[in-house]
Amino acid sequence: MKTKPLATTAALLVALGALSAKAVTTALCPEPALITEKPGAFEIGKATLIEYAPQVPGAEEAARFLAECWRVPTGLPLPVQAGDKPQKAGAVRFAAPAAADEKQPSEGYWLCVSPAGISVVASDAAGQFYGAQTLRQLVTPADLLRVPCLEIRDAPRFGWRGLMLDESRHFMGKAAVLKILDGMASLKLNRFHWHLTDSPGWRLEIKRFPELTTVGAIGDHSDPKRPAQFYTQDDVREILAYARARHILVIPEIELPAHSTAAMRAFPNLSCTGKPEFMYCAGNDEVIRFLEQVLDEVCTLFDSPFIHVGGDECPKDVWKKCPKCQARKAANGLKDEHELQSWMIRHFDQYLAKKGRRLIGWDEILEGGLAPGAAVMSWRGVKGGQAAAAMGHDVVMSPTSFLYLDYPQAAASDGYSYFAVRINSCERILSFNPCEGIPADKQKHILGLQGNLWAETCYNGKEAEWKLFPRAAAIADRSWSPAAKVSWASFETRAPEICARLKAMGLHVAPYGEPAWYKPVAAWKTGEQSEAWASRDWNISAAFKEAGPYKVRFIYTRGKHQLQFRNVTLLENGTEIAKDARQGSAGANPKSFDYTFTMPAAAKPGAVYTLRAEIRSDGGNDSSGTICVFPENLDK
Ligand SMILES: [Zn+2]
Repeated sequence: MKTKPLATTAALLVALGALSAKAVTTALCPEPALITEKPGAFEIGKATLIEYAPQVPGAEEAARFLAECWRVPTGLPLPVQAGDKPQKAGAVRFAAPAAADEKQPSEGYWLCVSPAGISVVASDAAGQFYGAQTLRQLVTPADLLRVPCLEIRDAPRFGWRGLMLDESRHFMGKAAVLKILDGMASLKLNRFHWHLTDSPGWRLEIKRFPELTTVGAIGDHSDPKRPAQFYTQDDVREILAYARARHILVIPEIELPAHSTAAMRAFPNLSCTGKPEFMYCAGNDEVIRFLEQVLDEVCTLFDSPFIHVGGDECPKDVWKKCPKCQARKAANGLKDEHELQSWMIRHFDQYLAKKGRRLIGWDEILEGGLAPGAAVMSWRGVKGGQAAAAMGHDVVMSPTSFLYLDYPQAAASDGYSYFAVRINSCERILSFNPCEGIPADKQKHILGLQGNLWAETCYNGKEAEWKLFPRAAAIADRSWSPAAKVSWASFETRAPEICARLKAMGLHVAPYGEPAWYKPVAAWKTGEQSEAWASRDWNISAAFKEAGPYKVRFIYTRGKHQLQFRNVTLLENGTEIAKDARQGSAGANPKSFDYTFTMPAAAKPGAVYTLRAEIRSDGGNDSSGTICVFPENLDK
């Protein structure tokens, strides 16, 4: 064996240690609460054992999970075994705190990596699992056999770190849900809110009422005749077991009193009119009994302490004309239909409470008085959540303006359609502080936050993955990490590795920010154009440098009307150098239109380049958008 000069070896080891620690720890997601990087690394090798202290909740499962994650990329045997003695050299060990002062917070863990070994200490099974998830992230494709030395003390800021998936409007199916659960667990997200019933289709088998699925599961948002798609109770049990093993709680949502046309396609007698309506009749005792029996089965199937009952967007017009609804109102001294809805929510709050469950609903359940004990999911901004917290109700924040994932993730089109035009990018999600505007003594009522993926414009599991990831990683940072550690700057440096890890899990992952070509140099705004064709100039000098082909992309951002353009000309110091006469348009669909111009030579220093186009706004003057000009090779 050759010997090297000691100083060189030591210097090399320090350099390697510093390199690997820097390269990997910066890419953890969510960002740990406290991390201390140290020189050196633990080498994973043929002799590496993965040990767990026997009878410690979750330790064996975490050890087996980590071994599975590491075996495939490393090709090493990594045997898993029980061991009651700390600590064999060269082992990774999962154990409970050895002393009272080592007790870890709920879901928290203490991870120490040294050249001699690795220890994970946690006081509960979720903490053991999250220690394993962090270790999984510390091994990167660049260096599969070394874990950088460090110490992490970590625990979540919020207990509710969630995603919601709407499977009524479009059904994603079991394989898609399992994949999403894996992606969530890798980011330490722990609440999966499952929107199973809504007007387009009822997706949950209820044994007592088979018509809910034989009839109610037919159709979706795209096709009212699509053959029935739903989850059997066996499917649900399988998905719940899968989620439980990943420390994810599944919260079912059974919508009432509105968003329920699918149920009334199966049972028209449950509406005020005898025809399928958007909302159940609030005055009919048969409706109350039916929903109780549905909830009985839901509570048998799901172990979640929370049952979501919707409660959103209930127009009251049908109730105003219904004798039964009016009779219920009179009998209970209710002053209006808001109080009638409130009566219904309170009834099911009490019903669920008797079964040991808690009702959670959208913030409309505040209208007309909120049932005591009920929790609120604040979606129409944060005001509902703030009001509910002030009244002492628990709150999950999921405002449209930050956390709706059916909104686009970038200004640049990614080829998918979105329900709205307002952008909820990773950067925007990270800027959301769920406790802002809530007095310190009420902040304990903020359970956490959740991203919601409604599925009017989401057609299958692959598309759902694209819209969920990597925004789920931003939600993970925001809901797990201490507020002071959360920023776009921090996320942006880690994002390439975060996205690469999610892709390695087989997920379809969107870009985490705007593409390289997206640098708007000009814009048009609502009110600036009319229905008549008119010429308009934009100074776009900043966009040009080298000679070569450039794209000019007109991108609609918002407004009711489409912008049309033609005779698009490029001028250099007022002289035309290129022209494309074609007529194009940018609106909701298509969102953008491209022209290509070739710059015959490099831009002249000090020259003014002007884009001139004839434009009109079709149908009115409400159209806004941006214009990007970029070298064609950036558009990959
Ligand atoms: Zn009625």
